[in-house]
Amino acid sequence: TSPSPFLDPGTHSAPNSLGILQLRRDHLIPTVLSSSTDSDYVEGKVENTRFGSFPHSTLIGQPWGTQILASVVDTGSRGSKSKKRKRGDTEGDSPSTPGTHETKRDIAKAAIASSGFVHLVPPTPETWTLCLPHRTQVVYTPDYSYILQRLRVRPGDHIIEAGAGSGSFTHAAVRAVFNGYLGEDGMFDSPKNSDRDGTNHILKKKRSRCGRVYSYEFHAPRAKQLRAEIEEHGLSSLVRVINRDVYEDGFCLDSEAGIDSAPDADVIFLDLPAPWLALKHLTRSRPSTAVVKSITTYSNPSTPSAEGSESSPQALPTEKLFRSPLNPNNAVRICTFSPCIEQVTKTVSALRSLGWLEIGMAEILSKRLEVRRERIGLQEEGLRGANASAATVSEAVQRLRDVEGRAKVFHGLQKEKQEEIMRRAETQKRGEKIEPFKEENKGKGKLYKEGRLVHRTEPELKTHTSYLVFAILPRQWTKEDEEKARKKWG
Ligand code: SAM
Repeated sequence: TSPSPFLDPGTHSAPNSLGILQLRRDHLIPTVLSSSTDSDYVEGKVENTRFGSFPHSTLIGQPWGTQILASVVDTGSRGSKSKKRKRGDTEGDSPSTPGTHETKRDIAKAAIASSGFVHLVPPTPETWTLCLPHRTQVVYTPDYSYILQRLRVRPGDHIIEAGAGSGSFTHAAVRAVFNGYLGEDGMFDSPKNSDRDGTNHILKKKRSRCGRVYSYEFHAPRAKQLRAEIEEHGLSSLVRVINRDVYEDGFCLDSEAGIDSAPDADVIFLDLPAPWLALKHLTRSRPSTAVVKSITTYSNPSTPSAEGSESSPQALPTEKLFRSPLNPNNAVRICTFSPCIEQVTKTVSALRSLGWLEIGMAEILSKRLEVRRERIGLQEEGLRGANASAATVSEAVQRLRDVEGRAKVFHGLQKEKQEEIMRRAETQKRGEKIEPFKEENKGKGKLYKEGRLVHRTEPELKTHTSYLVFAILPRQWTKEDEEKARKKWG
């Protein structure tokens, strides 16, 4: 029931919560921010990157998006807790810890020089996809954003996902279905009813259903690691990770206290090597033996629709009693993700035999556009449109002067910011409250001139990711439904 930074990161970074250090556009480092001083560094936990060292004390309590400057950290006693110094010990030339002969000079030598900056950004499915520990191939943002939109995933939906792999799709899916937490008291706690500080001002509303993700993974260590990440990200009340071979054992669960035994799914996403082998379990009623056999051997079954028509108790021998994992009250939407067209044809064939409709395929070919402002010199501004490229020597000199001037302003601001960060770290260590950063650069002049807006496209498409097959299974229609409809519509 704990809130997750993926669903509501708040405005500032917080201790014991995930933060992402963005070094470059596609280079991000995830880290759980720690205020603990139990570390080999005087500064507490430190993130060392190629752009310098970042003590967590400089990362906690910052507005998301802040540029953080690298710090000089004290590594004099790194690796040896017995030699650990307190910050005050670094003053003066006397040995800082009894039994050691380290002087201020030694410490200065051992310190890593700060060399750059990072941006501190909140965890989102998009940033997590770029930095998660890869165990498998993952579904990337251009694909999952299209998939979730095309599947019309809404808050409150239940999603079945198999295989879970590295959990990239899982994080995007849980954000899409999130409509609140179902607390231990069975009460529904929606963020819409709460202030940023978590105070719920409206009486908690009871709802029958809270959005959930059922994530199936065959490989036990992968399932275990994903479960641990989901727990660490505060998502375990919304995501259930199940270690299971879905080809064999399907999607229904053992009944557990408070957890539905059938996922009651509205949406299915299969990222499996052979999705057609899982489809026999994703029906409303038991499929016939003939259909199951034809799917398993990928032959094209002669019967186009087999929903229950030739049903046989031996169709799925591993299940005694047939239970459907699908929501009986909704049309169910499915997407399968396959890298080659042979897999697509087998999937489409199986979908047809099991009564799925509106079957279609899409291929995502995403292309990056780099949009930026082209910096132009003072003289050039006047020439805009007429002959902007005709730069003279004096224009070039002027431009160099401009750049030099801007660099001076930039470095001045950087220095001020570094000092401010150190002051804030000290304040926080004393247990005092830190005020949010003041708006920067106000009244200090613009760092960059505005220029023409230009864009560049990537010359080639870098990858073909996959083919996406979509289909819909109409809602269950019983005799009673038919009666009701007849009475209503005549
Ligand atoms: N969609 C995932 C993501 O975004 O991180 C990546 C999925 S990965 C490509 C495919 C996963 O399917 C693998 O982790 C594999 O172990 C799992 N898998 C393969 N066969 C399976 C089966 N029969 N049941 C459950 N999972 C299976």
